[in-house]
Amino acid sequence: MIWQPAENRYERMTYNRCGRSGLKLPAISLGLWQNFGVETPHVTKQAICRKAFDLGITHFDLANNYGPPGGASEQAFGEILKTDFAGLRDEMVISTKAGYHMWPGPYGEWGSRKYLISSCDQSLKRLGLDYVDIFYSHRFDPDTPLEETCAALDHIVRSGRALYIGISSYNSNRTRAAYDILKSLGTPLLIHQPSYSMINRWIEEDGLVDTLEELGVGAIVFSPLAQGMLTSKYLGGIPAGSRAALDRSLDPAFLNERNLENIRALNAIAERRGQTLAQMALAWVLRGGRITSALIGASRPEQVEDCVKALENSAFSEAELAEIDVYARD
Ligand code: NDP
Repeated sequence: MIWQPAENRYERMTYNRCGRSGLKLPAISLGLWQNFGVETPHVTKQAICRKAFDLGITHFDLANNYGPPGGASEQAFGEILKTDFAGLRDEMVISTKAGYHMWPGPYGEWGSRKYLISSCDQSLKRLGLDYVDIFYSHRFDPDTPLEETCAALDHIVRSGRALYIGISSYNSNRTRAAYDILKSLGTPLLIHQPSYSMINRWIEEDGLVDTLEELGVGAIVFSPLAQGMLTSKYLGGIPAGSRAALDRSLDPAFLNERNLENIRALNAIAERRGQTLAQMALAWVLRGGRITSALIGASRPEQVEDCVKALENSAFSEAELAEIDVYARD
């Protein structure tokens, strides 16, 4: 039988306006960086995406290089779009990016017009789409004039390959510069995608959050669970199959006794609040309303379910915030 999405899928999710644009994004979005490579069974990928959509997660975030190997996540999601999500395209915001290494030679990474436009075309082919909703410059390129990168992004929108433009991990000054150039070209900067969590606060220190608010640009923050460290999963050791066990991008060395002690203390605060540590970590990045969306990853549908429940208890007292600061610092 063909899968049907839950009828009540829009009832539990909160949708936040992305900066001063017309677009709203779910407070929690799903990223396909990990767990969507060739090693993960297709049924698992399907189950994660179905669960997300059933819970009102309308935004799916990809990049050219997600897999492994690079391209595999877009390929897998393209399959899901054709099957499970057939007919639902207009209920979704799909993003992809280019910036990191994707193919050999001088044209396969960074921020040139040559790379960005050809990579976007490759992504569209893998996804089986005519356009993505958001196309990102995945990282600032110190060797390509920012004017060239921005003109390529503007062209990607004008040629119908993307509806909106984003940038990822640019610092505050570079964000201002990109914003100005894009504005002068007539294609506004919709969104910025930086890392942010209780234990990674560079966007506060750099002034990026203030800059985005001032410019009216949305903020979607990646790795809000610090790749799983800000959940209860590592409290009793490193479970088989976890990201730290697979040693892909989360170095098990981070899970040393000192850090675990802090994570245990944070877990105790979350328990007092009647929520899981993952839920508290997500509520924390969304506190104050300055972050448009928390961009999570998941290896199982149950994790998505757990994360979305963060929205049921998202207020913090001053005392709770101060206590979190004692245990959660960069
Ligand atoms: P998270 O910090 O949300 O980490 C996700 C991992 O946390 C999961 O794979 C899972 O680990 C664990 N997890 C998730 N929910 C729960 C839960 N409820 N209980 C217990 N464990 C849980 O984010 P990611 O690091 O995965 O990044 C999210 C997305 O952000 C990416 O998919 C990508 O779209 C984007 N991103 C963008 C980058 C950029 O440069 N722009 C860089 C990195 C990410 P496990 O797999 O061990 O079960």
